[in-house]
Amino acid sequence: MSREEEVEVLESIYPELKRIDSFSGSIEISVVSDQPVKIVLTVTADKGDDKKSTVDQVDHLPPLDLYFSVPKGYPERVPPELILTCPWLPDGVLNTLHENCIDLWKDCRCECLYSIIDELQSKARGGFGVSEIAVDSKLRDIILTHNERATVREFESHSFHCAICQRRKRGNVCTRLTNCGHVFCSECLEDYYSACVEQGYVSRVVCPAPECKTPAVDFADLKKLLSPDQLDRLDRLRKKQVLESDPNTAIVCPRNFCQALIRRNPDDNLVICSDCQFAFCAVCKRSWHGYYEYCRIQEPPDELILEYIEGDESTRARIETQWGRLNMKRYATNYENDKAFREYMEKQNNRRCPKCYTPIEKSMGCNKMTCAICHTFFCFICLDILSQDNPYRHYGDPRSGCYQRLFEGMESNELDVMDALIEH
Ligand SMILES: [Zn+2]
Ligand SMILES: [Zn+2]
Ligand SMILES: [Zn+2]
Ligand SMILES: [Zn+2]
Ligand SMILES: [Zn+2]
Ligand SMILES: [Zn+2]
Repeated sequence: MSREEEVEVLESIYPELKRIDSFSGSIEISVVSDQPVKIVLTVTADKGDDKKSTVDQVDHLPPLDLYFSVPKGYPERVPPELILTCPWLPDGVLNTLHENCIDLWKDCRCECLYSIIDELQSKARGGFGVSEIAVDSKLRDIILTHNERATVREFESHSFHCAICQRRKRGNVCTRLTNCGHVFCSECLEDYYSACVEQGYVSRVVCPAPECKTPAVDFADLKKLLSPDQLDRLDRLRKKQVLESDPNTAIVCPRNFCQALIRRNPDDNLVICSDCQFAFCAVCKRSWHGYYEYCRIQEPPDELILEYIEGDESTRARIETQWGRLNMKRYATNYENDKAFREYMEKQNNRRCPKCYTPIEKSMGCNKMTCAICHTFFCFICLDILSQDNPYRHYGDPRSGCYQRLFEGMESNELDVMDALIEH
């Protein structure tokens, strides 16, 4: 084989090879290490000898550039001319690699460029044996930027199975959650998180994988999936949840039209709403009755609540003077909700998949169901078959009878708290 022919053959094997002329060319050897490589930046503080180190880990490193040329006399008498350059490999390592390549030629004294490239590529997969690199801040930037881009490219070219829509999708339309690494298609995540935020279920804004051990979602991930308005709302709901989790210092104004969240002094039962100036008792939530009168906080019996619900105006007024108008309204609402819930539970017992008629049982989770037999998505409330692409849209469409009812019927204290928030 002539020298030109060897270079031509190489070019056909490696499309990324750049030919310079008939006898020379260059090729980038990309470096993806099996083991993460530590990038250590050490900065000496201005005063004293204190040193601070920042350590990052990367898998992708900037490539090694191999320039080669085959001079007259190659391969029988003269070795190939090789130049290895790489921004992060120490000179010692580069020199050893160069020697190894020339040794390959010495062993055979025949066409050896293919073996040289092959050898370098296989060593590159082990990061050339480097496990830690000391860098300055400029080199650190180069390496981290390269790693970030290469990681994105790698992710986008793979395909992933989305556990929400049960489809395989290419990485460029998928999102990998930073904290746990679970991958879903971005459209499904957007729909799911939007539904959670719109309906006020902040604690459900986590990784949707049921088996996930670190379900909290990184804010940067949410920023890519939710609109600024939705992020705003999520932020407000989360703050509110934190405040309300401490009833000793936070209380909601009992006036229906106000419902402001107020900080209170835990040693004083008198609370004055900062929004509407309503003065009320922190214990019984009725208008302020002075420090020396007892609160009436025991619950009325069910019969009385029923009498209140079914009674005429004068009956209601009589009961209200004894128990408080606001209290009675609340008891009546709770009673109705409980009744609706009981009826709902009874209806649940004889449902079937709308497609294959397999009897189904709902033990927990939201109302978006997946048939275990035919994998159809359907709505547990209305038994409509849901879109295979966007099953959650059913709960986000104001025209749907199940608008905002994704989590309806779930039993938990948390849901009660959140319900109160949504009404507000
Ligand atoms: Zn999906
Ligand atoms: Zn996860
Ligand atoms: Zn108020
Ligand atoms: Zn009171
Ligand atoms: Zn089915
Ligand atoms: Zn429905």
